[in-house]
Amino acid sequence: MERGFLVRPRSGEVIRSVAHRMLDALDMKGRQVPVMHVLEGVLPYVDDRFSFEILEPEEMLQRFRMNAEGMTVHRDNTIALRIDVYVAACSGAGRHRFTAAHELGHYLLHKDEGMQFPRKSTPETKIYCDSEWQANTFAREFLVDLRYCGRLSGPEEVASFYQVSTQVAEIQWNAAKKMAP
Ligand SMILES: [Zn+2]
Repeated sequence: MERGFLVRPRSGEVIRSVAHRMLDALDMKGRQVPVMHVLEGVLPYVDDRFSFEILEPEEMLQRFRMNAEGMTVHRDNTIALRIDVYVAACSGAGRHRFTAAHELGHYLLHKDEGMQFPRKSTPETKIYCDSEWQANTFAREFLVDLRYCGRLSGPEEVASFYQVSTQVAEIQWNAAKKMAP
């Protein structure tokens, strides 16, 4: 896994509950989450500082000095997606929907968390203190609601119902089965 920055420790359960509270507030529990609509059509209205941007690859490079698929800029309250990622996420591609949800995770979890003087996470960093691990965990829990996904027939149906990759579907399916009474 790609390492990010050192952030406040958060367990998988804490991140799951943040994701579930967000789903409940958006009245999306158990449903396939229209993550692009959340970024473009919901967040800008409930959070008037927030802005969403779509960037050409050259703009991505210019502004962030890397050709990232997505970027969250806390000081500007902005999430930016590269245009090809945006287009693919809008048409329902699981991997790119995940990228959008991952950036939302950074936005919701990591504001005011030492990004002014960021410290790189290293292989010795506890995984639950790593910003990338936390954002990936958020994306999974936000896109596949564990409280409901266990009612489907298996990982294949989870992947198609929630429009996520088979890898994400399998992780959530196994977690749901472990939780089930
Ligand atoms: Zn990230």
